[in-house]
Amino acid sequence: MATSTHPTEVVHEGIPASPGIAMGPVHVIARGFSAPEVFEIALSEVLHEQERFRLAVELTKQQLTELQTRLEHIAGDDHGDIFEAHIMMLEDSAVLDRVAAAIASRCQNAEYAFYAVMQTFLEGMRRIPDPYFRERTADIEDVSQRVLRNFQADSEPRQLGPNETHILIAYDLTPSDTVGMDRRHLLGFATEQGSVNSHTAILARAFGIPAVVGLSRSVIDVTALSSAILDGYAGRLILHPSPATLAHYRQLHAEKEKIRNALESTRDAATETLDGHHLTVSANIELLEELELVAHCGAKGVGLYRTEFLLLNGSDIPSEAVQADAYSRVARALAPHPVIIRTLDAGGDKLPVEPLTEPEPNPFLGWRGIRVSLARPAMFREQLRAILRASAVGKVAVMFPLVSGLSEVERARELIRRCMDELDREGIPFDHQLPVGVMVEVPSAAVCADLLAPHVDFFSIGTNDLIQYTVAVDRVNPHVAELYRPTHPAVIRLIRHTIDAGIAHGIWTGICGEMAGDIRLTPLLIGLGAKELSVGPQRVARVGQAIRSLNLAECSAMATDVLGQTRSYDILNMSLEIASRSYGYLLD
Ligand code: PEP
Ligand code: MG
Repeated sequence: MATSTHPTEVVHEGIPASPGIAMGPVHVIARGFSAPEVFEIALSEVLHEQERFRLAVELTKQQLTELQTRLEHIAGDDHGDIFEAHIMMLEDSAVLDRVAAAIASRCQNAEYAFYAVMQTFLEGMRRIPDPYFRERTADIEDVSQRVLRNFQADSEPRQLGPNETHILIAYDLTPSDTVGMDRRHLLGFATEQGSVNSHTAILARAFGIPAVVGLSRSVIDVTALSSAILDGYAGRLILHPSPATLAHYRQLHAEKEKIRNALESTRDAATETLDGHHLTVSANIELLEELELVAHCGAKGVGLYRTEFLLLNGSDIPSEAVQADAYSRVARALAPHPVIIRTLDAGGDKLPVEPLTEPEPNPFLGWRGIRVSLARPAMFREQLRAILRASAVGKVAVMFPLVSGLSEVERARELIRRCMDELDREGIPFDHQLPVGVMVEVPSAAVCADLLAPHVDFFSIGTNDLIQYTVAVDRVNPHVAELYRPTHPAVIRLIRHTIDAGIAHGIWTGICGEMAGDIRLTPLLIGLGAKELSVGPQRVARVGQAIRSLNLAECSAMATDVLGQTRSYDILNMSLEIASRSYGYLLD
């Protein structure tokens, strides 16, 4: 450090999104434009960096003036005004002085000090509830980017940049940001937005990256390179941790590692309760690279293969052959265990299947899930044929997302029948008994589970969506996160009703929402009658060990009592009481 005194420890509280502890320097990325390299400078270099900043600003002003002249020449005098405001910003002493002061106080390179000042300024503007200010941020981002490009690179990066291990702080991260991150250097991440059930959080848990979401103002208040601890168990970001805090976290980290190692040795044991009932623990995946995690986690198959990334990440939806290859790879890698492939679940909080001409007023209630597939039969047909082709090389099942009633299941099944006929005619092998299931994640499907059950081979309860639709709480909105309660009596009753309807018609029910990986709730879920719990690969061993420590008879009795309870909190506690008594050491 260039400064000698230890800064005071600051604790930011957020929502725990992925367990684990990360310790290291923070790196901040802002919205709008990407961060330049950041490194520390010696006090003796402050003047030099301030001069570099002055030169970058001068060069930008010169370029803008030239652009202004050119525009006036082409479009007339009054059009040059557009650049006037940009140039004025670069003459604003409030900005210039703040950057010069930031270089001196942070002892960081000029590019980064400029970026940090502009980022704070822009974030402030974005949060003013006035569209005029929000619109102006695009202009300021544009000028800022220009200035950043105009810094002369006269020095090599000397210390930490994003190529070193770091804790990432961002306003928000999309699932593709998370996938695209260089995970070798990422110790953990924290975001201001997001929620425990966002796909970004789900992916963080899949890869075992500690994460905290809902950390208000962290992007504005955090200085890059500050030393920090990210506590993914408690949902905390601690900046400038004191030696005592560091010691505490080192010890906690060591204890958690010990439990992890112990779990490793039990991961292949049968997942049977103490009173001899077998339950399946399988894994949820979205990326092919997760197959390696699945191979090592002890999962008995994949209970949910989300196909959104495969289908929507590129510029075009991959062909039937490319999809068949990917599905076959998963099927082969898992054999003899099964893989349940979910057909495309576009829209809502996920990627749209095609650019929409107008934004949907209520995306969660709009064009998503099976509704999109049924509306695009050619696309749906290709995916179904690809899944069928993969069923020839391993144990494959298919399921449909966001089913709200029987007619959708009938139409989808009819399409499968036609695809089977086509493949038969073409002489392409597939499993004629391919199991077909539905995700129960819309309350209408849960309420009508008895009407759906005769038409399918299994149910998989998607609690992430089932909870949000039942209690009308957006699963990714931090403002209402407190109301998102997996043990709400209405949710528990819907789960029970679905499982009972399945049993009455001789089909099994699994749970593949994030609730399935929360071992506080394992007694409740198996007590309600779930036969399969499909969870992130990192949770498989823990859920397996929880099952081995439980008595199904006791859990069933508790689950029956729970149905008479009125409060989510009491229901949670009834399950937690058994969990703590049976495997308290495993609870995060
Ligand atoms: C769910 O809704 O619980 C689920 C598993 O699907 P997703 O999280 O992909 O919506
Ligand atoms: Mg869902």
